[in-house]
Amino acid sequence: MCLTIPSQVKEVSGRSAVIENARGKNTIDISMLPNIKKDDWILHVNKFAIRKISKKDAKEIMYLLESAKQIDLAGLSDKFKKIIEAARKRALTKDEIIYLLKTEGREKEALFSEANTIRKEYIKDFICIHGIIEFSNYCKNDCTYCGLRAGNKKIKRYRMSVEEIVKAADAAVNNKGYKLLVLQSGEDPYYTDEMLVEIITRIKEKCRVFIFVSIGERGQECYRKLKDAGAAGVLFRYETSSPKLFKATHPKGKNLENRFQHLKFMKELGYYIATGSLVGLPGQTVEDLADDILTTKEWANMVSMGPFIPMKDTPLGKSEEGGVEMNLKMIAVLRLLVKNSRIPVVTAFETVTGEEGRKRAFLAGANSLMFNLTPEKYRVQYKIYDNKFYQNEKMWEKYGLFKYEESYKMIEDRMGEEMVKN
Ligand code: SAH
Repeated sequence: MCLTIPSQVKEVSGRSAVIENARGKNTIDISMLPNIKKDDWILHVNKFAIRKISKKDAKEIMYLLESAKQIDLAGLSDKFKKIIEAARKRALTKDEIIYLLKTEGREKEALFSEANTIRKEYIKDFICIHGIIEFSNYCKNDCTYCGLRAGNKKIKRYRMSVEEIVKAADAAVNNKGYKLLVLQSGEDPYYTDEMLVEIITRIKEKCRVFIFVSIGERGQECYRKLKDAGAAGVLFRYETSSPKLFKATHPKGKNLENRFQHLKFMKELGYYIATGSLVGLPGQTVEDLADDILTTKEWANMVSMGPFIPMKDTPLGKSEEGGVEMNLKMIAVLRLLVKNSRIPVVTAFETVTGEEGRKRAFLAGANSLMFNLTPEKYRVQYKIYDNKFYQNEKMWEKYGLFKYEESYKMIEDRMGEEMVKN
């Protein structure tokens, strides 16, 4: 589902009304809301008023979605201005990306502001909300940053049954209005290809929903079967584009080539690809992060990137956290490069920054949210990292527009555009 900024009605005449928001005045069709009056607050999409809302709720949504003031570029370095101008016309080079990732103070704020402007130009004021169901925290791998690693004996493991997964998805789609769901787990061979096919088939029978799987490296055959069963996308990070760093953080025979081979055949199979990296891994350099940006641009239809957060029961438990500012700069630079792709604010980012961080991420170019829909009794046990963010999402769910068929169509259209572009 998607959320958009509210407008106030300034004038009503017959079936049309003049409305106003931060982007200016607009005349729209109000046939769907015949009782609307001057000074009312509404949500509208394109030329149609969709719903009336209270002034209080309007203020709350505006606080979250409203733009920051555009920063005046005067007085900033020539180099910075040239890069920002170039980004409108062509892809940036690695050196230019590094420059942007190193900005501080006013240049950093100007970078965020430019990314926010591009977001608004390309994707308007929509914030789309997707859901994630974490169905198993068993994992056969030993990634040194991740709390689900096989070597972590302290975590209480759980697996949701096929029945439970289908039920959770059904509730998310048919009661709450989600139209894009990620099914995520550790790499857990307990779920056979056949079980995964059954899960997807049964969800697709009950729900109009785009299913993304995030289940790790399972080989081409498995992904072919899941695609045939109706899976639309994958959430599959390459984690870091630095072979050295990948090796250091992935013992037990995992390698970066296999990660990319997966992305390659997933793309060939027609999956919509959500990928990206961890930001702020110990030992990661700004050069590594610039490579990550270029790699993400090459592979992603939708970006999936977040800060590294230390988890105490892992080898990296005592390392420093990934850092909010660098993450925001990564979001902003990516927005300059992949202008109309989805860049979600991920849970890890919210864990570090809280609700205020969401707003900052939108203002740096992010445009969607990923809400946790894992049943509560399991949620606390999906400890990828410590103190994971859980927020009461009621306000967002209440005003998530397009909960029904239009929403599915909108996502379908956007995904189509994003895939063609790539
Ligand atoms: N098994 C799936 C899903 C992995 S878990 C797969 O292999 O693709 C989802 C994501 O959590 C990982 O891709 C990783 O980027 C992220 N993650 C793991 N540990 C983390 C940590 N300590 N801090 C932040 N993100 C972490």
